[in-house]
Amino acid sequence: RAEAALDLAGQLNEQQAAVVQAGGGPLLVIAGAGSGKTRTLTFRVARLLREGLSPDALLLLTFTNRAAGEMLRRVEEVARLDTRQIWGGTFHHVAHRVLREHAPVLGYAKGYSILDREDAKEVMGAAIASAGLSVGPRRFPKADLLLDLVSMAINTQTPLADLLATRTPQFAPLEEDVLKVARAYAERKHALNAMDFDDLLLNWKILLAEHEPVRRALAERFRHVLVDEYQDTNRLQGDIVDLLASAHRNLCVVGDDAQSIYAFRGAHFANILHFEKRYPDARRFDLTVNYRSTPQILSLANASIAMNVRQFEKELSSVRADGPLPALVPCRDVQQQAGFVAQRVLELRDEGIPLKEVAVLYRAHGHAMEIQFELARRGIPFVVRSGVRFFEAAHIKDVLAHLRFAQNPGDELALRRALKLQPGIGGATAEAVWNALDARRRGGAGTLDDLLAPDVAGQVAPKGRPGYRRFVDLVRALARPPTRDLPGEAIEKVLEGGYEDHLRAEHLDADSRVEDLRQLAEYARSYEDTEQFLAEIALLTELTAETVSEGSEPDEKMVLSSIHQAKGLEWRAVFVVWLADGRFPSAQALRDRDGEEEERRLFYVACTRAKDELYLAFPVMASPKDRERVVLKASRFLEELPGEPGVYERWQLDEGMGLALPAAPATAALAGEAPRALAAALTVPALFGPAVVKKGSP
Ligand code: ATP
Ligand code: MG
Repeated sequence: RAEAALDLAGQLNEQQAAVVQAGGGPLLVIAGAGSGKTRTLTFRVARLLREGLSPDALLLLTFTNRAAGEMLRRVEEVARLDTRQIWGGTFHHVAHRVLREHAPVLGYAKGYSILDREDAKEVMGAAIASAGLSVGPRRFPKADLLLDLVSMAINTQTPLADLLATRTPQFAPLEEDVLKVARAYAERKHALNAMDFDDLLLNWKILLAEHEPVRRALAERFRHVLVDEYQDTNRLQGDIVDLLASAHRNLCVVGDDAQSIYAFRGAHFANILHFEKRYPDARRFDLTVNYRSTPQILSLANASIAMNVRQFEKELSSVRADGPLPALVPCRDVQQQAGFVAQRVLELRDEGIPLKEVAVLYRAHGHAMEIQFELARRGIPFVVRSGVRFFEAAHIKDVLAHLRFAQNPGDELALRRALKLQPGIGGATAEAVWNALDARRRGGAGTLDDLLAPDVAGQVAPKGRPGYRRFVDLVRALARPPTRDLPGEAIEKVLEGGYEDHLRAEHLDADSRVEDLRQLAEYARSYEDTEQFLAEIALLTELTAETVSEGSEPDEKMVLSSIHQAKGLEWRAVFVVWLADGRFPSAQALRDRDGEEEERRLFYVACTRAKDELYLAFPVMASPKDRERVVLKASRFLEELPGEPGVYERWQLDEGMGLALPAAPATAALAGEAPRALAAALTVPALFGPAVVKKGSP
């Protein structure tokens, strides 16, 4: 039943409306930053729903789950229809939803666990050890390295042996052993009824490629597949999309080749570059108007990306009114850079740009450290959108191990981790208990009651028995409704069931750990399904301690984020920091032309996040404390831009952190209020000269 058509007038331009109204079949939109790709995709979803397509016949793949959530919220506004039935999220997220239903076809038991990196490392380590191999630079690759190689092989769909030869030639002669260990790693995971992140994608592809009934069911279910940020899909993800669309070919992908920044993780440029070869009947659309940034910001971004050789020709013009030129801000050292950011943020707030409309973007997490300290010192609230891995903290993982084991009694890692926390039970006992359990179940996942069998419980020496008993009671309680379904309750139960006592006995900072866990429980209360909650956490890489501890929208906080995590987002004011050559672009990336171009795309992504104001900062000296003063050179991405008068305006910071900029009176008043007088004014003779190292004090 078709409802009244969507009113697009005033919401979209003609180019955008053409994509929204286009019929089925393969559609490709390649367009520059801020041209409305995401908005267009959102309206297309709304249009399809309004015309009567059932919400569960739609699959929306995005770069983050949050992005999908925001798009669907917008769809509800526009179409005034319920979108809860729509499957939307990252490839990993959707893979898990598919596998929850279909994993048994591949020989997994229901309720499989998802291994994070630390778990995976443990399993890989065990596979290496049981092959009788010892690691070392000339002997055998470490677990971490091997995991990276295996992951790269899966995501790029390249034979592991080839990667071994090209990436780590020193280990190429060990090919046979490496392949053996990789196989053992896969078998161990399967025996644990567990998947790592890559397995989620790989198993999804295997389901689609090798299990015709499943492929048909999924291809028939999803009548339309839509993909945002398509330029950063890898080969495996590209294949999954092709398989999903194989029946109806109703595939709409949008992306910007100039924003492809995940090659290091196996993103496959060619997915977007060769889309029209794979789909000769594809219709290609252009969006040529940028709605996000001022003409000044856009000119700088365009001038920069034009230096790249490999790209689609694109036109991009701004519709916005003029704004200030982007500011180029050399700082004396990292502390001055941090001070500058903090102070300018406060000024912007006085000028009417709220904190949440301001972001600091950087290439590497370490680049944000001083800024975090400075903001904290001045009491300026901020969230870190990436970096601190709250869920990888030991106490968080300890508690979650209880929940995991109660859900999946075949999860060896969870059992060993949780059991070892009990007094009188060490690693050896935990292992003996597991082995006895495993022998009893003969490879199956078994039940929690197996823990009580005499041959299992008997592995625990008398001094550990009270703790063992408590543990068994606890996990059985966790497996009973309502706790089984309510992760918030479950976390509280673990705390009360002895874990809080354990923390108090073992750690000086027990208070803050307990506090973390109470906040985690609070956060978990938004879930009514523990399995879902555990899966979300395992998949989550962007949620930080800060976001969780507030338990609310980061409304009045500025944002700190790596550029990689900032894809697709926008703020009124953006600071890009650490723009020093060798840091951004990083020295490592500069080894080849592709590396330099990828870094330039990263710079393009960073600059095009800004709507109104853009600040490009770099420290001239790495650290004020260094005896050996490393003098840095401005990033080549700045140097290669047309100089003044050109696409930016250079600022000079004066003594005491007041900002002496060419034409901005607003800062004068603040100069006197600077909380800490920083030393001498910035006087750097050869700012753009070659990098030199000067010894001694200035
Ligand atoms: P990116 O490449 O960074 O992902 P994008 O192409 O997806 O960008 P959007 O995020 O969809 O661009 O749009 C950028 C901004 O411009 C958003 O704030 C969006 O709402 C706005 N915008 C896009 N098209 C229009 C339009 N036709 N009218 C008004 N605003 C628009
Ligand atoms: Mg977008």
